[in-house]
Amino acid sequence: MLSLAGKPFSVFTLYKNVWLKKFQSAAGSFDLSCLAPHDTRSGQGTLTVPVKISPMPSLTAMGFETTNLSELNITPGMQGAQALLDDFLPRMKNYRDVRDFPAVKGPSYLSVHLRFGTISIRALARHAMHAIASGQGGDGAMTWLSELVWRDFYFMILYQHPHIVQRAFKPQYDRIRWESGPAADVAFKAWCEGCTGYPLVDASMLQLNQTGYMHNRLRMVTACFLIKDLGIDWRRGEQYFALKLNDFDLAANNGGWQWTASSGCDAQPYFRIFNPVTQSEKFDAEGKFIRRYLPQLAKLDAKRIHSPWLLSEAERIKAGIALGENYPAPIVMHDLARLKTLDRYAVVKK
Ligand SMILES: Cc1cc2nc3c(=O)[nH]c(=O)nc-3n(C[C@H](O)[C@H](O)[C@H](O)COP(=O)(O)OP(=O)(O)OC[C@H]3O[C@@H](n4cnc5c(N)ncnc54)[C@H](O)[C@@H]3O)c2cc1C
Repeated sequence: MLSLAGKPFSVFTLYKNVWLKKFQSAAGSFDLSCLAPHDTRSGQGTLTVPVKISPMPSLTAMGFETTNLSELNITPGMQGAQALLDDFLPRMKNYRDVRDFPAVKGPSYLSVHLRFGTISIRALARHAMHAIASGQGGDGAMTWLSELVWRDFYFMILYQHPHIVQRAFKPQYDRIRWESGPAADVAFKAWCEGCTGYPLVDASMLQLNQTGYMHNRLRMVTACFLIKDLGIDWRRGEQYFALKLNDFDLAANNGGWQWTASSGCDAQPYFRIFNPVTQSEKFDAEGKFIRRYLPQLAKLDAKRIHSPWLLSEAERIKAGIALGENYPAPIVMHDLARLKTLDRYAVVKK
């Protein structure tokens, strides 16, 4: 799908508007006849070519190992996808209001099924369209449909600009000098292991490490922390997510990382730097999500749980927290890191 000028889209909203029109006019169906095998000898275009089917190799022969899917409570296959969809459909109308709060059951959790093809993206889009047309979708259905379009947008970007796998979408962002060397390696390890001293960042990384999933808001917060608080190359974080996410998808993952690094197509501006404490106060106000993954902070109240280094000695003792022992001190101070990042990014303006 190209713009009227015959060029790939580079602005999401313009792409989405054309996408929606096209989807509506095709009623969500896709003509597959052009893909069917044709008998070219007869010139009739009939389906008469015999197809030789080789025996299916076993999963072990293909190099797969047994995993802990049952432990993770993931029901695979189309039945698993359908169960998640059935659970989500009545919640779709609330999606816009609740999707940013990781302690709440807001999103669909269908990404792993989309990634493995156990649910049809067209069927999902049709559900959203139907909810919108019937007036049952509230504000949520349109927002959710937009997220499905983001997925296609990033596929299109990867297809049209394959260099993004190695480099920034916007070339001037390749001038940025990232932190490297032993200190950066220590910081990167702390980020991977959920030991940065910022509770929301750490709880999110533990969610990723323990479940293979991370909530979308938290993907943005943790990615931003790595890039703009620790000054580490977005490609290192992208690789770590690729290793850990069950829903890993090259286009969406690269799109998300480059959006956060501001180097991507239609990305956030480089001076937009999430404050990990205010993000935590806003999106996990009660600290419910944090407590789930960091039980050692469970005794802190909703006000204190976002920044344990600000506790008084007495408060720390009362809550049973020993900084540097059962919970790390912050590895970087956000305000200083922010200024450093603005300096680091100055090269993109030249
Ligand atoms: C740094 C970063 C890395 C990411 N890596 C991946 C990845 O490897 N695989 C992946 O599928 N998504 C990725 N995303 C996008 C998004 O976080 C996940 O799709 C979403 O959290 C999956 O949960 P869900 O199925 O409950 O989503 P829902 O909120 O229910 O959304 C429904 C579907 O829309 C699509 N979608 C939603 N948001 C986005 C988005 N921002 N970009 C592209 N598609 C989207 C997904 O297919 C998702 O399953 C990434 C985002 C960021 C910021």
